[in-house]
Amino acid sequence: PTINAPRRIQALSQDVVNKIAAGEIIVAPVHALKELVENAVDAGSTSLEILAKDGGLKLLQITDNGHGIHKDDMALLCERFTTSKLKTFDDLTSIGTYGFRGEALASISHIAHLTVTTKTQDSSCAWKAQYGDGKLVPTKPGQSAEPKPTAGRQGTQITVEDLFYNVPTRRRAFRSASEEYAKILDLVGRYAMHCSNVAFSCKKAGESTLGISVPANATTLDRIRQIHSSAVANELIEFQTESDRWGFKAEGHISNANYSVKRTMLLLFINHRSVESSAIKKAIEQTYAQFLPKGGHPFIYLSLEIEPHRVDVNVHPTKREVNFLYEDEIIETICDEVRARLGKVDTSRTFMTQS
Ligand code: ADP
Ligand code: MG
Repeated sequence: PTINAPRRIQALSQDVVNKIAAGEIIVAPVHALKELVENAVDAGSTSLEILAKDGGLKLLQITDNGHGIHKDDMALLCERFTTSKLKTFDDLTSIGTYGFRGEALASISHIAHLTVTTKTQDSSCAWKAQYGDGKLVPTKPGQSAEPKPTAGRQGTQITVEDLFYNVPTRRRAFRSASEEYAKILDLVGRYAMHCSNVAFSCKKAGESTLGISVPANATTLDRIRQIHSSAVANELIEFQTESDRWGFKAEGHISNANYSVKRTMLLLFINHRSVESSAIKKAIEQTYAQFLPKGGHPFIYLSLEIEPHRVDVNVHPTKREVNFLYEDEIIETICDEVRARLGKVDTSRTFMTQS
């Protein structure tokens, strides 16, 4: 009998809208951290220090030495769709920063307790503020929510506490803090590899040993050695190829035919963004299959630069995947070059072992 009586359509409340959006962008602590790392790099930082507790669920803190945030912008900082990086939709075709949607801090503020301390070069002190649901909130009940002056160095420190405290189903979905911490180390490791001239450190709160530590002046090879191992760093071939026709450049370090592991390690960057691509992974694995023992897989660090107007970075809420033109042609060009390099090294090695 109710079949002809549809439920009426209603607008969701802003609070519900914001929480749903936040849950799409921040699925796990590592996604919050990715946004924070990218913001710090966007701010021109040369040093990033990361601290995590309970796999980032209890605490995520990132301290950078970038340009800081203007005190008068602090009220807007966590509002949804407020950004210093994008003005028009067309700017998206030439975007040179990681961020552009002004959604990250807003999202985090809806599902965690967020504290920001920041100092710009021309401010005589640092400013500290707390956020909830997109807005400044008082530190203690009854106090003003306005940013308060405090001591601090130039740069920004962002503290995220009790992630998903108000999304209990999501909070309960995390079985192990160490699994989440492993994802955090993986992410920090990727950016620490790729961002040359930037120092990175990452550790668990309360522990003295660093999970990751690279100085600003470390070379890419040093970074691979520190973050992964000497075993892999010693077996890498430098890799480079480009094509004007397909509008791309690729460079990186790839393991030679003497090195193989159980699972492919693909550290892929497209226009400096850490992304995933099952198409690239599959093609590279097929290429290596001719050179490696059965079941063996390579280590690949690959940085692709594609003309920005041919790349769409806005296809996924977490920006994990990007679309680009001439994907097949670009992958083929890369795999041809991989094959050529492996072939060269392979013959010299065979020669050496025979002699
Ligand atoms: P987006 O990065 O897309 O602009 P965010 O929500 O991540 O959106 O950040 C909003 C704004 O806050 C940024 O545009 C930037 O101006 C400022 N901001 C965020 N993090 C930092 C930081 N670590 N240092 C300096 N400015 C920052
Ligand atoms: Mg951002």
